[in-house]
Order: sequence, then structure tokens, then C-alpha cells
Amino acid sequence: MPDNVIIVGAGQAGAQVAISLRSGGYTGKVTIIGDESQIPYERPPLSKHFLAGEMEADRLFMRPADYYAQNNIDIRLNTTVARIDRAASAIELTDGSRMPYSWLVLSTGGRVRKLNAPGGDLDGIYYLRTIDDVGAYRDRLKPGLRLVIVGGGYIGLEVAAVARKKGCQVTVLEMLPMVLNRVVAPEMSKYYADVHAAAGVTIRVNTTVTAFAGDGHVREVKCGNETVPADMVIVGIGIIPNTELATAAGLKVENGIVVDELTRTNDPHILSMGDCANHPSALYGNRLRLESVANALGQGRAAASVILGNPVPFTEVPMFWSNQYDLKLQMNGVSMPGDQVVIRGDMAGHKFSACYLRDGILVACHAVNQPRDFMASKPLIASRWRPDPAKLTDAAVTLKDMAA
Ligand code: FAD
Repeated sequence: MPDNVIIVGAGQAGAQVAISLRSGGYTGKVTIIGDESQIPYERPPLSKHFLAGEMEADRLFMRPADYYAQNNIDIRLNTTVARIDRAASAIELTDGSRMPYSWLVLSTGGRVRKLNAPGGDLDGIYYLRTIDDVGAYRDRLKPGLRLVIVGGGYIGLEVAAVARKKGCQVTVLEMLPMVLNRVVAPEMSKYYADVHAAAGVTIRVNTTVTAFAGDGHVREVKCGNETVPADMVIVGIGIIPNTELATAAGLKVENGIVVDELTRTNDPHILSMGDCANHPSALYGNRLRLESVANALGQGRAAASVILGNPVPFTEVPMFWSNQYDLKLQMNGVSMPGDQVVIRGDMAGHKFSACYLRDGILVACHAVNQPRDFMASKPLIASRWRPDPAKLTDAAVTLKDMAA
């Protein structure tokens, strides 16, 4: 059998594997199989410029459509892989056809977590993961529309910011006591809640959706005894990693497909990366399943390096960003509840950063309109820098100077 790579999942991670294989000189056959109708695209703008109608789909694509043919990458869209036959080193599509592989890449990403409440199938209730999802409703964000957003995570808050700019009446319902609960310090959570309140968004925390009601179209969101009127609902309550193929094939799965630092699963011919994969972090001494572009692309490159026979692990400090209103939040590292938080800069002036210390070591930095701290913090987190917390508050001294 000639050397060939089959990539399951045409998202950013899978496409990056193919791109890096070709740029690295791989001459075998490369096939990308994706169940969406679009060539690989960037999801971050979906809840930002694309939702706002300031960007069209053609600007989301990672590479132009002719890139794949020009680089001899066979890309099959609207196609779903149903099964992996490890014994025969082959995959099976839903139409029953089979394709052999010498390397199999599982970049199956995640799917939206659905809200299983009565009335959840009414018209006007939407999710946000794909171009098609957003295309179905972005033109309906009009002044006066009563939009209820379920979930106060990054996606929910980004949607809130866009919808407010469009003049919608926006209510965010969050089950937990704080927005961005899992991912930022309480100080940061309060800051974002205040920013949204000042922009006219109603945020209700400790509020669980119990049902939707309407006459075919959603009109109300019920939260226990309370009712919130709604013309449209967008649900953003996280994703479920697509690990079923891997589980059925007997691969190790534990909050994602378990891989090593080179994206290798427990099958030497199967690699996995991106939102669906759980990898070891030497920096934090634990395992992580990250949902971020930098991770998807970095691990995609690492997987290609394995196939090319020159393995280079992806060990960079995790990175994420979120744009809301004119606030550019850039994040290095992964914080955890209980980390010591030191704020540098001017929160009221919307130019500050939150530094997270664990056992005295800088583990994460969340910078709001403060690119200098964002840039400087990455190598400092990587080197496990131990700052003096008292000095850290002095934003007049750059992190770089402080560390020197
Ligand atoms: P995915 O993009 O999920 O791609 C996997 C693909 O595989 C999907 O198309 C899926 O349908 C397909 N698939 C699954 N199973 C099969 C099968 N059996 N057969 C065929 N195809 C299959 N990250 C940031 O860093 N910054 C941001 O600001 C940011 N904003 C975001 C905003 C939104 C609205 C969303 C949805 C995500 C955002 N992210 C952001 C996260 C980032 O987009 C993801 O981490 C990244 O896209 C993950 O890429 P992936 O290739 O691992 O998975």
C-alpha cells in the first residue's frame, strides 16, 4: 500500500496537518474528509465580525478553494466517517465505502452542547458553531429585537456585544454565579459583567433555563417561576468533543482523545489534535483539552512533523483571545480557581492585565487592551517566572523590565 494520510475533520486542526505535510515535502496521498459543506475555515470571527455582518464567508477560509487541488490534497466535503477498522487500517464512510490509511488523523473537533429543555425545538432558537448556523440568523439582529443569550461564556458575551451594537435588547442568562466562570478570575468576571451592563445588556446569573414557550416560534424563556420574553434565543453553553469514533475503535478517551505531546494516540498509526484531543502539559504538569485556534494549529503542525519523520512536539504556552465592544482581551496560559490574582493597570480606563500566580509562579496573564503585557508574559510563563506580587501591581514598570 502506498503511504497515505486520511484526515477526519475539515476544521483548522485537520487542514493544518495537510498544509504542513505538503509544505514539509510529503509526497504521499493526503485526503481530508469533512462532514460540513465548507472548505476549512476560521471559527473565531463567527461570533465577532461575521456575526456583525462586517465580514463575508470567503474571508473565513484558511486557504482559497483552489489551494487543495493545487497541492494535491483530496478534500471531500459533506462526507462523514462512520467507523475506524484498526485491524484493517481502514475507515468506513456512512455510505459503506472503505478507504485504507497508513496514517489516520482524528481532528473531529467538537459539536455544540444542546440545551435539553422542553420547547427547545421551537423556531428562533439557535446555536453557534458553523458558518451555516450564523448565516441563518445574523441578518435578523435588528434594533429592538429581544435576544436572549443562554450562557455567559466567551461566545455568549461576544454575541451580546455584537447584538447590542445592532440595537437589540439583550439578556444573558447564566446558570453559575458569574459570567466567564470557568475561565477568568472573579475580578475579571465582574469587570466584564459591568462592561456589558453599562452597554445595556441585562445579565442574570444563578439562572437556569427550564423551558422555552411559544406558538411554533419561541416567545418566552422560562427560568423556574420567572419568564423572560424573547424574539430570538442563541444558546452558547459549550461543546462536546467528538470522540465517538475513537471510543468505538478502542482508542483511549478521557475528556477527549488521549494523546502524547506528539499528538500520538495509543495506536501508533493514529494521531489526534485540536478541540477533540487531550494532551499532557509539561508546563502545568497535568492534562489539558484546549479549545483554541493556536492549539489546533500548533498540534496540527506537530502531527505533520511526526508523519514527516522529524517529530517536534507542540509545547507553547496556551493562547486565546476574545473581542467584545472595543475591548481586546488576549490571554496567555491557563488559570485555575484559587490562583492568586494581581491586577496591573487601569481597569476603569479599560487598559489593564490580570496576572495569575500559582505557588508564586506566573501561570497566566489576561490582558485587556494591553498588548505589551500579553507579549511579555508568554516567555515569562514558559520560564516559570516568580514575580514579586507587590511589584507586579506597578504597571509603570514593564513585565520585561521587572523580570530582567
Ligand atoms: P473543529 O473546528 O470543530 O473541526 C472539526 C471538524 O470535524 C468539524 O467540521 C466537524 O463537523 C468535523 N467532523 C467531526 N466528526 C466527523 C466525522 N465523523 N466525519 C467527518 N467530519 C467530522 N478560539 C480562539 O483561539 N479564539 C477565539 O476567539 C475563538 N472564538 C471562537 C468563536 C466561536 C463562535 C467558535 C465556535 C469557536 C471559537 N474558538 C476560538 C475556538 C476555535 O475556533 C476552535 O478551538 C478550533 O476551531 C478547533 O478546531 P478543530 O479543527 O480542532 O475542530
